[in-house]
Amino acid sequence: MATSMTTSPSLPHSADSQLSSLFFTHLPAEIRNLIYLEYWKLCSVRQHIFKYRLLDNDRESYTEAWAHVPCRADLEAPDTRFEELGQSVNGSPERELWGKRLRSEWCLHWMCEEDAKAVGERMKEASESQQDGAPVVVQHSHGPGNAGILTALLVCKRMYLECLPSLYNNTTFILTDTRTAVNFLSRYVPNHSDDASSPAPKSSVPHPIRSLELSIRVPNIITEIYYPSNPNTPGGDDGPPAVFAAGPVAAAPDGNGTLRGSRSTLNARNNPWRHLCDTVVALLPLLRHLHIWLDSSDLRPWHKRVSETRFFGPFLDLPRPHSLERFVLSLPGLPVRRGPDTHALTGQYLENEVLERLPFVVKRGPRPDNMRVHMRNIVHFGAVGFPPQPTAATVVVASGYSGGGGGGGSTTAS
Ligand SMILES: [Zn+2]
Repeated sequence: MATSMTTSPSLPHSADSQLSSLFFTHLPAEIRNLIYLEYWKLCSVRQHIFKYRLLDNDRESYTEAWAHVPCRADLEAPDTRFEELGQSVNGSPERELWGKRLRSEWCLHWMCEEDAKAVGERMKEASESQQDGAPVVVQHSHGPGNAGILTALLVCKRMYLECLPSLYNNTTFILTDTRTAVNFLSRYVPNHSDDASSPAPKSSVPHPIRSLELSIRVPNIITEIYYPSNPNTPGGDDGPPAVFAAGPVAAAPDGNGTLRGSRSTLNARNNPWRHLCDTVVALLPLLRHLHIWLDSSDLRPWHKRVSETRFFGPFLDLPRPHSLERFVLSLPGLPVRRGPDTHALTGQYLENEVLERLPFVVKRGPRPDNMRVHMRNIVHFGAVGFPPQPTAATVVVASGYSGGGGGGGSTTAS
């Protein structure tokens, strides 16, 4: 998907009917659709969408190109990254590699990120040898098929037009970057004229997205926006933190879409996360499946810094879908004990009666303990007085994952 999958209005008129093709003339549409479906499965029905920067000829500017890679992460499998880090030799390439994977912005999709970088390199090579004006098309696939989803789209105009609805209907689109997600998803937001209250709303979008997964490692500059001035106020709705009410400073997004330097334009209603929330809310009536998996890059535990009722405010009090289990919000665990020493934010988590106001099932599980990962990367383990390395039988939470309250297993609340 180095080029965006859009349909030009003139395309149906210029498409050849392919009457000499046995595929189109001998097989009924139902069979052709089954073939398309099997082909998507062969290529993977879970596809990461990302952007890659291609350096322009002047070597000073760049062009952003859309790309895709199949997902090969197993989100149900244990996250063994910290164990791998602990077993690597201090100062070795393996130690550096696993540390990098633990800090991956793609979170549990770190291996998909590595595939994406390989695709990016191939796109770079292709762009350097391309003819002027020719689109850069690079595919990536794994598994028994040696072709990507673009192969079917590039056969001919008729097949493109015919199989595109099937592709959108059967693909889970996965995004791991807030800015890219907004950029990609906003083109699938229905017009205001669409009846979102209808059980089966019709969409002005020709090919709406039906299945979406967001896996976001939220930078602390975003979560801090929602940290209440008084963390002990239930609900925390007592205004923004003082730091974000400071005087004007120019805002500028960095390469990762993170706004830096500004406090005057960065607030709870204007930041990349809020834009993504608004986009997802607009898409909700058309989605059949949604999974939002979140972690924070903050060295401090999630439960100490994230006021969930504020952070997920745009999702509160929305109409609940009939099949609630199809919309899942995966969050870091919370402490079972809530003493003052735990720095729990009273009444500001998605739990108890607040869950009834959400269009999701909320599932909680352990996340990498960023502070321990950080320390592991900068000092030799033991040199700063850490306790002995836990045995393999010890739950992973104790060795490098924070699950809130010492529990390693995921908790489910709905
Ligand atoms: Zn993946």
